[in-house]
Amino acid sequence: MNMIEAPSPNFDFRTTPPDTIVLHYTGMETGEAAMERLRDPAAKVSSHYVVEEDGRVFRLVPEERRAWHAGQSFWKGVRDINTASVGIEIVNPGHEFGYRPFPEAQVSSVIALVADIRTRWTVDDDRIVGHSDVAPERKEDPGELFPWKRLAEAGHGLWVEPPAAPGLPLAEGEEGAGVFALQAGFTRLGYDCAPSGAFDAHTTAVVRAFQRHWVQTRFDGVADGETRARLIGLLRLGA
Ligand SMILES: [Zn+2]
Repeated sequence: MNMIEAPSPNFDFRTTPPDTIVLHYTGMETGEAAMERLRDPAAKVSSHYVVEEDGRVFRLVPEERRAWHAGQSFWKGVRDINTASVGIEIVNPGHEFGYRPFPEAQVSSVIALVADIRTRWTVDDDRIVGHSDVAPERKEDPGELFPWKRLAEAGHGLWVEPPAAPGLPLAEGEEGAGVFALQAGFTRLGYDCAPSGAFDAHTTAVVRAFQRHWVQTRFDGVADGETRARLIGLLRLGA
């Protein structure tokens, strides 16, 4: 793969090989501004790669080193996601500065980059996630416009489109076995969502993160029939 070397001083050492890939958007007005920040020692943030809107791929941190992109996070029982993952920053102004569709050249490069990373490390499909999946209360990137379905069709990550199951939507404030089962399902998929049976604000954040990744047409934090059917469908894939 064609890479442009743009080393960042912001990394330390891994204790285990990566088994997860985390996708982000940069959330800054320009790609240049994002690159500057990700290479600024004072900012103490970085990623392994940055993918520009025109498809150029920059390498900031070698994969065998630990980049600083995930922060406080959780996936499948792991809290130190920086140690467990390779991080890809995709240039997009994000929800704060004018969220817009990811151009074709950029999407192709992200897909090629993910494929390339998977030739070197064992990364299962259920460990290809967004920043919002691993930090649902803090983050919303790469967001509902990222083409997860296309990435999955290219062989990377999970996607299902089961028929929507009828059933009353579950929303914040509700309690009971249905909420418990929903939280158990999210936990099994990988989210930090310990089953309590009470649909609290954290559960709403998890539902919204799930919807941004695996529903995309709505991300209101209400677990409607379609949202629940997709969660069950993903778990049936063996996630
Ligand atoms: Zn991020």
